[in-house]
Amino acid sequence: MIPRNHPRYTSLMLREKIKKAHDKGYLADSGMIAHGRGEAFDYLLGERTTDNGRKAIESAVATLLLAKNPIISVNGNSTALVINEFIELAKILNAKIEINLFYRTKERIAIMKELYESHGYINVLGTDDKKLLYIDGIESPRATASENGIYSADVVLVSLEDGDRAEILVNNNKNVIAIDLNPLSRTAKMANITIVDNIVRAIPLMIEIAKKYKNKDNKYLKSMINNFSNKINLEESLEIIKKT
Ligand code: ATP
Ligand code: MG
Repeated sequence: MIPRNHPRYTSLMLREKIKKAHDKGYLADSGMIAHGRGEAFDYLLGERTTDNGRKAIESAVATLLLAKNPIISVNGNSTALVINEFIELAKILNAKIEINLFYRTKERIAIMKELYESHGYINVLGTDDKKLLYIDGIESPRATASENGIYSADVVLVSLEDGDRAEILVNNNKNVIAIDLNPLSRTAKMANITIVDNIVRAIPLMIEIAKKYKNKDNKYLKSMINNFSNKINLEESLEIIKKT
């Protein structure tokens, strides 16, 4: 048990969740390394949602609300940390959830499918190997997608995503929103909108903002998108790191 008054309580609790997911068998060894990389960047950002992060989140939510077929792409790490929040966000945005694993195995997919079902989310996509298509015909495990999900999506929300996969999505004209604590990662640079924030803070804030934005007209939502530059936002995130 981690004592509540431990100065690094939140961070340690997140580690516990990641460890548990690994023990259950749906998070690959490398997922633990990826989490550690995230921790380091979160530390440098002051473990808070910056104004910059919030700006990216507002623009991301507006983009998702205007989308025709928005997909939330989930993996082992993100599921371990925010499964309930993903499900709530998907409902509010009318988005679908698709499982997408860097180290895809039948076992991991089966465990995750069951996990989503046990949390009340039934039709999670990307679980049937035989039905997966290849984006742009690129026959690589990096390019798989389900037909009604990522394959035909106009907007895809990814978190802790690999740079190669983000590139394939962008090259296929998907509007890619990435949640990534590292403003220097290839994914962060490649995405159309990068939210430089911890997923455990970003998704709950997205839920809150989506509830507010649901009542706004398209003109307002479009203005939130037009006022956003990913390049500038990433540069500002680096400035924040320098000053923190
Ligand atoms: P790339 O291939 O994009 O250059 P990478 O190989 O460093 O990046 P991956 O392992 O593919 O990165 O993806 C993990 C990314 O997710 C890292 O950039 C890491 O900082 C980030 N990350 C880890 N944990 C979190 C978290 N809780 N919230 C948001 N981002 C996170
Ligand atoms: Mg990578």
